[in-house]
This record gives sequence, C-alpha cells and structure tokens, in this order.
Amino acid sequence: GSRIAETDPAVYAAIVAEEQRQRNNIELIASENFASPAVMEAQGSLLTNKYAEGYPGKRWYGGCENVDVIEQLAIDRAKQLFGAEHANVQPHSGSQANTAVYFSVLKPGDKIFTMDLAHGGHLTHGHKANFSGRFYDVTHYGVSKDDERIDYAELEKTARELKPALITVGASAYSRVIDFERMGKLAREIGAYLFVDMAHIAGLVAAGVHPNPVPHADFVTSTTHKSLRGPRGGIILCKEEFAKKIDSQVFPGIQGGPLMHVIAAKAVCFGEALKPEFKEYSEQIVKNAQAISARLTQHGFRVVSGGTDNHVMLVDLRNKNLNGTEASHALDEAGITVNKNGIPFDTGSPMKPSGIRIGTPAVTTRGMKEADVEQVADFIAEALADHTNVAKLHAIRERVFAFNRAFPLPW
Ligand code: PLP
Repeated sequence: GSRIAETDPAVYAAIVAEEQRQRNNIELIASENFASPAVMEAQGSLLTNKYAEGYPGKRWYGGCENVDVIEQLAIDRAKQLFGAEHANVQPHSGSQANTAVYFSVLKPGDKIFTMDLAHGGHLTHGHKANFSGRFYDVTHYGVSKDDERIDYAELEKTARELKPALITVGASAYSRVIDFERMGKLAREIGAYLFVDMAHIAGLVAAGVHPNPVPHADFVTSTTHKSLRGPRGGIILCKEEFAKKIDSQVFPGIQGGPLMHVIAAKAVCFGEALKPEFKEYSEQIVKNAQAISARLTQHGFRVVSGGTDNHVMLVDLRNKNLNGTEASHALDEAGITVNKNGIPFDTGSPMKPSGIRIGTPAVTTRGMKEADVEQVADFIAEALADHTNVAKLHAIRERVFAFNRAFPLPW
C-alpha cells in the first residue's frame, strides 16, 4: 500500500491520475521520456536527506562517505559515456548547467552568438526573457529559408565580423545533425569559446547515433531526463583546464547543496546508457521519428526541412488551415500529447504558432517500432482532419488508449 495514500490522499489522488495519464496517452513530447524503475527508485530514495556541499572527498559536511561513492560513480560514468575530461553532475537542471557555463568564462555585457529560439534554440541561449538575454550582448544565427537547416556559411560570416566571446550551439527543436566539428573550427579561428548544449540529443550522442560534441567544444551541457532517460537534472562536461572554474561556478557560484538522490539516479541512468541495449534503443528512436515523419508527409503534412535525422520533428500545419495551439488541443482530446511550437520564419504568433513538435524517445521506451508509430501518425492525421469534432476526437481517444495498452510502461 502507498504511504502517501495514508498520509496525504489529495497528493496521492493526483499522482494516481497522472499515472493513468502516462499509461493511457501516447506521449510525443520530444523532451520527455519514461525513466526506468531503477532510476525512479534512486530518485525517491533516502539520499534526499543528505547535505553534501562540495565535491567527493572535499565536503563541507560530515557523513558524506556514502554519497561520495555515488557522486564519483556518476562522474566516472558520465566521463566514460561521452569521452569527457571532466564532468560535473550537480546542476539541478539544464538551465542551471547553462548558467554555470556562462558565469564561468563570461562577464556581463560580453558578446554571445547563439541559435535563435524561433529557429529551434532554447531560452537559455540568449532569449530576452531569460537571464542569458539580459546579461549578455546577444546575436542570433538560425536556419536558412531554403532548406531550413543551420546556415553554416552565413553564420561563419557573421561570427567573423562579430567576434563573440562565446558561441552556443544546440537546440530544442532542430531535426538535423549538427556539425560540431565545423563549429569547433570556427570558434578556434575567431578565438571564441564553443559551448554545446546537447540536452535534446544526449542519449543519441551517448549511443553513437549522433556525432559527439565533446572533442570539439570547450563546454558541453545536457539535461539527463530527455533522450538520455534519466532523472530530471543537468550535467556539465568540459576540458580539464576549465574543471576548477566549472566546479566553483556550480557550487558555491549558483547552487547550494547537491541533490544526492538525483545524482544517484544520474549514476544509474549513465550505467544504463553504457549498456548495448541503449544503443539499440537510440537507433530505434531515430527510425521511429523517420517513420512518423514519412507517414505524416504521406498524409499531406509538411515536415520542416523535409524530415528528421534525430528524435524530433516540427510539423508545419499552415496548409491544413490549423495552428499549433488548435492542433495540440485537438490531439489532447484524442489522447495524444505534443507541444505547439513555432517553426522557422513563422508567420503565426507565439500563442498561435504554426507548428507542433513531435518526438519519439518516450514511445520508443514503450517498445513501439516503425509500424506502430505509423499507426500513431494515422491517429494524428485522423484527429487533425476533424479537429473541432469533440465526439470524434473522444472516439479516437478510446482507440488510442486501447492501442497503447500493448506497449507497457517500464514500471
Ligand atoms: N537546453 C535545451 C536545448 C533544452 O531543450 C532544455 C529543456 O527544455 C534546457 C536546456 C533546459 O533544461 P531544464 O528544463 O532542465 O532547465
């Protein structure tokens, strides 16, 4: 029996309802996944009780001998997984990891050169509503209008004139392979730091399904909860020469006590990602994304850049006379979870963007293969064809729930 059920029925009821939602709905949010029972057990463990400011062997608190073992395992596995010289596993989130990187080598007012949010970048890449946009002098690069892929020639030209202190690479909604080697060459040529935020693709990188930025970048950050399938949190990888700066920026620079239960879950996650099955899983994520993209294209949808090389795609809904908000609401009614998302050169507004973002890490964890996600694409097409007909959407939802029952959650 659940102890929460006994002590706090109100919270328990919401957790049970969320369990049902996760079980029933088809989860296509590109940044979500289903962590393993082992990851969740670590994250829900008694390690939450421990303060451990500092780093293994150098703590400000007594009684850290066990959490030292755990954090060292997480560090060693992260380094092994990505071939990194140094790893800091303490950032509470991806945003905190990025904050520590900026603070480690930049001063307020420095020039940074980053991917535009409207072209797939993240808020922490210099958006004006984020600290990164307020503290630094931001210039954006983006994708070209013709092929909707990063316009390397154009950004190289701008970077040579701009001479930024740091270039940020990485995205939340970009479906193509990123050429980290080329970005590394550019950064060295102009004397800028190269900072790669691989949050979305980290699992693919760990599995060798996407090129690894670590050899080319001064700093690499990631979340651990997306394609990497770990607990919610962040990590920073860097060259040895920046190790001290990064560690002292994370603590005491921007954080206090590390979340040792989450760090234990990160260690478990990295251990899982080092296994051969994780490579198979990651390869399947990409096959599934390509299968959905192809099937949606057959249904007359326009997939941004014509397809995907990774786990994510953007679907431009303008030819269907729909916006992303209407589409994501309709899909919610049909039991399919996506997000509304802007597309490059969007003609809609932030509240009514022209697209939706679809990702395959979560459905692949449930065991879906190409034929299964083609069925998912068929459900999407059927729902969006009749997006204002709530009765029809609810009828689709019954079929969606029944279909999804064949794909068990990992717990
Ligand atoms: N960087 C990228 C590219 C992301 O997509 C995200 C998450 O959406 C983050 C950073 C921030 O991660 P968090 O939500 O853990 O702060």
